[in-house]
Amino acid sequence: MAVKIVKAVRAMHRKADQMRRAGQRIALVPTMGDLHEGHLSLVRRARKVADRVVVSIFVNPLQFGPAEDFAAYPRDLARDLERLDPCGVHLAYLPEVKEIYPEDFATTVGVARLTEGLCGAHRPGHFEGVTTVVAKLFAAVKPHVAVFGQKDAQQTLVIQKMVRDLNLDVEILMAPTVREADGLAMSSRNAYLSPEERREAPSLYRALMLGKNMIAQGERRAPRVVAAMRDVIAPLCHAKIDYIEAVDAENLTPVAVLKNSVLLAVAVRFGKARLIDNAPVRVK
Ligand code: AMP
Repeated sequence: MAVKIVKAVRAMHRKADQMRRAGQRIALVPTMGDLHEGHLSLVRRARKVADRVVVSIFVNPLQFGPAEDFAAYPRDLARDLERLDPCGVHLAYLPEVKEIYPEDFATTVGVARLTEGLCGAHRPGHFEGVTTVVAKLFAAVKPHVAVFGQKDAQQTLVIQKMVRDLNLDVEILMAPTVREADGLAMSSRNAYLSPEERREAPSLYRALMLGKNMIAQGERRAPRVVAAMRDVIAPLCHAKIDYIEAVDAENLTPVAVLKNSVLLAVAVRFGKARLIDNAPVRVK
């Protein structure tokens, strides 16, 4: 069954209304395309919880800073559709930039506080771009449920907060991070890595696992854990650290003493690629 394509917002509304009238539960998986196993795992999760799965593919200019990789971001629609074909996706929603952001576009959606730390501190305006486009995708697709990745934990929490604060009637699910065999989290941006950078990149995962193990063995001082993680990444030739932090898993503020639910989070630049990863840790 070839995946049906919808481009116009009005056409998407009509399809969504048809599905809802037929009593079908709609799941949305928002993506920027260049689909990999991480994305497909979200699709599989969506299939389990809904009758109809819509995957959106939209490289959202609003979430890229002026010096970031919007123009270079990998785009291969034909390959993406081929990948979606065997996954039981009912509809690919491929809106156009000019319809999502017409010239007189003047409304944005912003979530305070949760967006201040971690990636928010390094990418001004990024999360406002994300919440604005996700609000628009929800308005177009009218999903009952939407699936996001743990890989972008801050983004998923920010969207959950937006949904609660705006009383949107969408359930947000978070699916686990899918990794390469050596631990590197799958990401479209891994394609930017040179062979040398690619060899160093799994150190993000190694640092997270080291931090997790220290906590499992009883370490409760966050600065000690963060310092040990830094010692894994800082010596690498190609790595430039944006942040390595231990934060409260709910409000994302840095913690000094590790307790309850903690998120270890890292962002490291390797040449053109800015890679992020995280590990949720339940502290006993
Ligand atoms: P992106 O296309 O990178 O904007 O990602 C679209 C969705 O896929 C987001 O919810 C991401 O968190 C999720 N995602 C990206 N990479 C992974 C991964 N390796 N494992 C699980 N989910 C992922």
